[in-house]
Amino acid sequence: MKQYFNLSVSETAQDLQVDLDKGLSSQEASERSQKYGPNVLEGGKEKSLLEMALEQLKDFLVLILMVAAVVSIFLGEALEGIVILAIVVLNTILGVYQENKASNALKALKEMASPHAKALRNGQVVEIASNEVVPGDVIILEAGDYIPADLRLVESVNLKIDEAALTGESVPVEKDCKTVLAEDSSLGDRINSAYMGTVITYGRGKGVITDIGMKTQMGNIAGMLNDGEDEATPLQKKLDSLGKLLGIVCLAICGIIFLLGLLRGMELFDIFMTSVSLAVAAIPEGLTVVVTVVLAMGMQKMVKVNAIIKRLSAVETLGSTTVICSDKTGTLTQNKMTIQRIYDGKELYDVSGTGYSPVGDITDKSGSKKTEAVQKVLESLVLCNDAIYDPEKETIVGDPTEAAMVVLAHKAGMVKKQWEEKYPRLQEVPFDSDRKLMSTFHTIDGKNVMYTKGAPDELLRRCVSVDIGGSVETLTDAKREEILSVNQSFAESALRVIGAAYRNVDVVNASFEAENDLTFIGLVGMIDPPREEAKNAIDICKKAGIQVKMITGDHKITATAIGRQLGIVEGEAVAIEGRRISEMNDQELQECVKTVNVFARVSPEHKVRLVDAVRANGNIAAMTGDGVNDAPSLKHADIGVAMGITGTDVSKEAADMILTDDNFASIVKAVAEGRTIYSNIRKVVGFLLSCNIGEILVIFLAMLVNLPVPLVAIQLLSINLITDAFPAFALGMEKEEPGVMDRAPRDPAEPIVDKKMAVAVGIQSIALAIGTLGSFMYGYYVHDDLDVARTACFLTLVLGELLRAYSSRSEHISVFKMRVLENSYLNKCVLASLAFLLASIYIPALNPIFSTVPLTLDEMIAALVLAFIPMLGGELAKKIVGK
Ligand code: ATP
Repeated sequence: MKQYFNLSVSETAQDLQVDLDKGLSSQEASERSQKYGPNVLEGGKEKSLLEMALEQLKDFLVLILMVAAVVSIFLGEALEGIVILAIVVLNTILGVYQENKASNALKALKEMASPHAKALRNGQVVEIASNEVVPGDVIILEAGDYIPADLRLVESVNLKIDEAALTGESVPVEKDCKTVLAEDSSLGDRINSAYMGTVITYGRGKGVITDIGMKTQMGNIAGMLNDGEDEATPLQKKLDSLGKLLGIVCLAICGIIFLLGLLRGMELFDIFMTSVSLAVAAIPEGLTVVVTVVLAMGMQKMVKVNAIIKRLSAVETLGSTTVICSDKTGTLTQNKMTIQRIYDGKELYDVSGTGYSPVGDITDKSGSKKTEAVQKVLESLVLCNDAIYDPEKETIVGDPTEAAMVVLAHKAGMVKKQWEEKYPRLQEVPFDSDRKLMSTFHTIDGKNVMYTKGAPDELLRRCVSVDIGGSVETLTDAKREEILSVNQSFAESALRVIGAAYRNVDVVNASFEAENDLTFIGLVGMIDPPREEAKNAIDICKKAGIQVKMITGDHKITATAIGRQLGIVEGEAVAIEGRRISEMNDQELQECVKTVNVFARVSPEHKVRLVDAVRANGNIAAMTGDGVNDAPSLKHADIGVAMGITGTDVSKEAADMILTDDNFASIVKAVAEGRTIYSNIRKVVGFLLSCNIGEILVIFLAMLVNLPVPLVAIQLLSINLITDAFPAFALGMEKEEPGVMDRAPRDPAEPIVDKKMAVAVGIQSIALAIGTLGSFMYGYYVHDDLDVARTACFLTLVLGELLRAYSSRSEHISVFKMRVLENSYLNKCVLASLAFLLASIYIPALNPIFSTVPLTLDEMIAALVLAFIPMLGGELAKKIVGK
């Protein structure tokens, strides 16, 4: 295999035939893509449709059915056997269809959440899916990015990469593109290269892709990369064990029915078939499948509210969220910064204009234009800056905080590009949320100067002097107080404040230590308006019993002011700063998070302690994050939420949910969706359980009172497959019910079948049994005809289930008060079931298969009227236990 770490940057570029300044052309990239294929690791094999089908056939109940079919054929009941087999086939097709649908939905979501790479193509930076990169692609590397494939570095600025995934080395490796290494350098020593799947923890750079897919170092050890099977969610596990328990109870009852049948001298084959069909009809084995499909479909629906869910279990947890810890900038606010105020160490200035428009003036107290006075402030902010601004299109690329400074400079006639050409950047110490500072080095008028900008409190701690109109004075305590009070007054008007300073240096040495002995130049205050939807979303949270906590790197007063505008802070404002959090022990912090809603000047490690404290109080916590250091807090949260637009790959990887629009309101919509999904699952479970128990009761009671078996095997099987399963799925697709966000969050420890559901299921099962048996007895005693009685019983049971499905659309709202026909899936299922029912009764050829006979009008009416009883039972249950 060709190696590149022993070649220079230019040799690498030549070998890979790429211009490092322009990258590949689109045509070249697509040719290489054809030649080398996609950049993917061949992970776990996907299940084929046949494998899925075979898995279905391994199911215990299917096996029982097959045995029943074979026994029937063997005993000369060929028709019965064939019908059972047809039902097995239909069931398998349905099962495979559903499993396939769910797994496709999950696959599509995984793809949406997969990382992207910033590649240079045709001279422009474009974002492409990581699996589309090709050898020779030039990739822009920033802190928080995953390395998409193996690459030779061609530019590195303080670049550090965490290679633990590959080498096990936990300390990030400092990279240097300029070195050329010996041919036998070991993987851990190759500081001029970077490898697929490793993470940039600091700095920035550029690299040219040398190997992709299975040819990468990760590809070499691909065995360990196979995605682990998605673990069953807590709900799936609960339902699985509930299903098993009920299964055993049902089997026991079937056993009793079998014995009762024997005692009553029924024919052996008939009792066998009845018991088998009853077992199949009654055991709620479909529960877990329905839940998986409902969860997976729910995940798909959440994409529409801009939330990509990465794990099935997160859907469940979302619904029980009690606290949302949210970043401020960009999530609760618009992240569209406009500088409105400037302070030059002496005077205050106003800045007019809105957004990223280059139109606006800098004026002093008297209203006269002033640009000269703030020249030094502007110069520092424009040079110590990575944002790109297009004044014609009024668009920016990069950090909005920095872009606001470029726009401000533009208003004063200072074009960033020209300034950068005049005073090129020699070195830099990048911004990070722990230090809250950034510095760059330049040669200005023959002298080396370091410009530093950042959070005023952090900056001022490192300042020893102040530059006022060109004259440098010692920073006295009084002056420090004055600057801090200006900072405070900006912050009180909800402005985000950034300070600027400089230092003349002899030797350029980009390090944290250099950021000391600074000379203060000034402050700027920028407005970042709250997102309009955020206030409404916070109101919804209040009604829904969800606390919202703002956790921000910004200043305490700015954060409180924004918190007040949004309704997060009410009454006496209490905000805690990161420094205070460091002083508290875990117990104190736990107490503190009960009442405090604003946490300011917080660094990523505080976020971990905060989320732990919130959870220790018994809460289910969602926590947002975007930075390279946010991964631990996202992992500690019950629901880690990453930002789709501004978030780093690392944060997206660690998160359970990605917001495609970075918007707080989307979290709240996702919570509502999560609650709806959970409540739909409850509807499905309640509906299926009462179907199953009701059917057992019908047979059991009939036997107890010495009546003939009211439903034959095929009838029971078709009810199970058609009239139970389809409406149950349709119930899983219900839309959000009114009032979903007016209730307190559910306790995640509560069993899915709680007391209320148990009572409701009991009432409905009894109602179902009463209606169905009533219909049977009417036919049996009044018409004195067993076939008529069974047909009427079949009709009432099917119709009863279908009508009851409408009542099951809500556990709380009466069917008479809802818009009954709103669920179109349910309507379609009901129509299809009705067509099947009428066909089985009125198409003569089908009569022998389903043991039915055409009913006369009065029998039909009696069966119809009785079919309303189960639905009324459902309504009665709502009156008794409906919340
Ligand atoms: P949030 O945590 O809500 O997203 P934030 O953007 O204020 O808020 P950080 O990005 O950690 O959080 O920034 C912390 C502080 O660092 C800011 O309040 C600001 O004073 C300063 N700051 C932000 N961006 C820069 C930058 N590019 N250069 C220098 N200082 C910055």
